[in-house]
Amino acid sequence: MFKISATPKDDAMCGWYHTAPARQAKPAHAGEKHTRWTVLGAGFTGLAAARQLALNFPNDEVVLIDAQEVGFGTSGRNAGFAIDLPHDIGADDYIGDIDIARTTLKLNRLGQTMLHTLVKEHGIDCHMRPSGKYQAAIEDRGIAVLEAYRRGLDKLGEPYEVIAGKDLPRHIGTAFYRQALFTPGTMLLQPSALVKGLADSLPSNVKLYENTAITEVEYGDKVVLKHKQGRIVTDKLILANNAFGARFGFLRHTVLPMYLYASLSRPLTGAEQAQLGGKDFWGVIPADPYGSTVRRTHDNRILMRNSFSFNPRQQSRPDCLERFAHNHRQSFERRFPMLPEVGFDYTWSGSLALTQNHKGFFGQLAPNVYGALFCNGLGVTRGTVTGALLADLIAGKRNELIDFLVADSGPNTLPPEPFLSIGVNATLWWGQRKAGLES
Ligand SMILES: Cc1cc2nc3c(=O)[nH]c(=O)nc-3n(C[C@H](O)[C@H](O)[C@H](O)COP(=O)(O)OP(=O)(O)OC[C@H]3O[C@@H](n4cnc5c(N)ncnc54)[C@H](O)[C@@H]3O)c2cc1C
Repeated sequence: MFKISATPKDDAMCGWYHTAPARQAKPAHAGEKHTRWTVLGAGFTGLAAARQLALNFPNDEVVLIDAQEVGFGTSGRNAGFAIDLPHDIGADDYIGDIDIARTTLKLNRLGQTMLHTLVKEHGIDCHMRPSGKYQAAIEDRGIAVLEAYRRGLDKLGEPYEVIAGKDLPRHIGTAFYRQALFTPGTMLLQPSALVKGLADSLPSNVKLYENTAITEVEYGDKVVLKHKQGRIVTDKLILANNAFGARFGFLRHTVLPMYLYASLSRPLTGAEQAQLGGKDFWGVIPADPYGSTVRRTHDNRILMRNSFSFNPRQQSRPDCLERFAHNHRQSFERRFPMLPEVGFDYTWSGSLALTQNHKGFFGQLAPNVYGALFCNGLGVTRGTVTGALLADLIAGKRNELIDFLVADSGPNTLPPEPFLSIGVNATLWWGQRKAGLES
């Protein structure tokens, strides 16, 4: 048996989880179960993979397992941007190779359409709306990023609008930013409500077990998954557990377990909404990758997302939560001086799988083991589409998008410790410092 050296245990204060409609979690697994298919991880990727496998193999049962409750893990902890456009931060114009960018756009749009269709079909109450996104800058470096991204969008033939700082209060209330680039294709949503709704609308041949952390695995003709109350013996295993996938013996030294931090304010009163002005539902992403993501939500709260930490043990860190809640407060005050009385109801962290070359893994890992792993911070759309397409690949289907994903070189190998930790921590420190007012 191969021991899994870390399992997820997120902090308790995710605002999206607590403000989403309540749902009854499915019971944990107990005893012994034999099955043909097991999908590990019930976030965006695993939910999509299990759903599509169940449709591809309607006579089989598909087991879907998560260590925590659906909506409590990273898929319920993000900023809720279902983004269509590619954004290659390694390229000068953020678009890079035009063929790769065009295919990435198709993948993202397919993921977005899959989610939107399910939301409509099942009436999932997650406030998913086509709202576009503002990429906003305050520092000179940020303005230069917007300029470069405009060139990239021209190359890709995608529409955008440049909004001068003086006009931004009409859109987002605050006069803080100098410029923004509005792109219309993003949908904003309540991520925990969405994944809870996806879990409750799975095909009837998906058997979901929550609060079932797999702690040991044995590979062979069958794959044996052990947990504290029993075991699951499966013909095929699909790993959809993001950064934790690297704990299952594959793709070692390829993923950086990063944690990101967010806070959600209390709802604004009617008078505060009037003080703020602007539209009633919007999302801003920063020009600088170390800057702040900000949203005004359907229930008139403000979300602030900034600050990273490198957590090689893959456990949330209370010391960072406290420190970064303070960063969120300062970032909020800079942007919203007209809302001095508005405090945060929730501050939380979420695990993120980053790779050095920003590539994920898609395909077969070993006999009877497949994976769609490492979403590099864009898992709402990308996780959904790669999960579904992996289920199609397993069913023997091929198309342009599957061929593209299969041909991808995947993540590269990271430097060894202690160089890795030293390098990552220094990069984070410097990045967060030079983000300046954008943080
Ligand atoms: C603060 C923050 C903001 C973000 N903002 C955005 C955004 O706006 N848009 C966007 O697209 N992305 C965003 N992301 C990234 C996005 O949340 C992820 O890319 C996405 O959740 C990946 O989905 P996934 O299903 O692949 O993995 P996850 O959501 O990580 O799901 C994997 C699941 O596997 C389970 N698991 C792991 N190990 C085991 C085990 N041993 N046994 C059983 N279960 C296990 C976990 O509990 C987890 O539920 C953000 C992330 C954070 C943290």
